[in-house]
Amino acid sequence: MFTLPKLSFDYNALEPHIDAKTMEIHHTKHHQGYTNKLNKALEDKGEDGISIKEILKSVSKHGTAIRNNGGGYYNHSLFWEILTPNGKGMPSGNFKSKFEETFGTLQNFKEHFSNAAATRFGSGWAWLSVDANGELFVSSTPNQDNPLMDVVEEKGTPILGIDVWEHAYYLNYQNRRPDYINAFFKVINWEKVSGNYDIALKTKSQTT
Ligand code: MN
Repeated sequence: MFTLPKLSFDYNALEPHIDAKTMEIHHTKHHQGYTNKLNKALEDKGEDGISIKEILKSVSKHGTAIRNNGGGYYNHSLFWEILTPNGKGMPSGNFKSKFEETFGTLQNFKEHFSNAAATRFGSGWAWLSVDANGELFVSSTPNQDNPLMDVVEEKGTPILGIDVWEHAYYLNYQNRRPDYINAFFKVINWEKVSGNYDIALKTKSQTT
């Protein structure tokens, strides 16, 4: 059984960048919905007790309900963690070095990532991920897919993601997805992203 993770900040903490009502509905309705439907789908198939990462890595074998709701469960769990009302910029360390080696400046990354998010047609996500060689890459996926899934083209471990489904921004931004993407950059928890990078590298070295 998967359970809805608690947020580490209040629903209004990210205002004015992400409004309280959007956060509340997104967490208590959308994320809760994916969680419930994932549990139901796993129960129906007798597939309880598998970790979410294992499920996603072999998602092609699990069917559409588990692909959509397992992705929804995992993606939102990551999303809440990489948001913060008290962003402190990027801490120095392995991640920062790799980030600068890959993208040069934050501004260059922002353009790259924002473009992936803005040009995702319909609903989906844009990601910063670590590939099998420990390299960083930007990609986007439709619906609730993510780079962990065996069904996606560009595979890796996501360490930062933006939800560009309309439910993530429509109340406050309506059709202005680029404004929402811009606001997202003001509430990124770079310390967490940096930690996610270290964990992704460690996990990779254990499995190879
Ligand atoms: Mn969402």
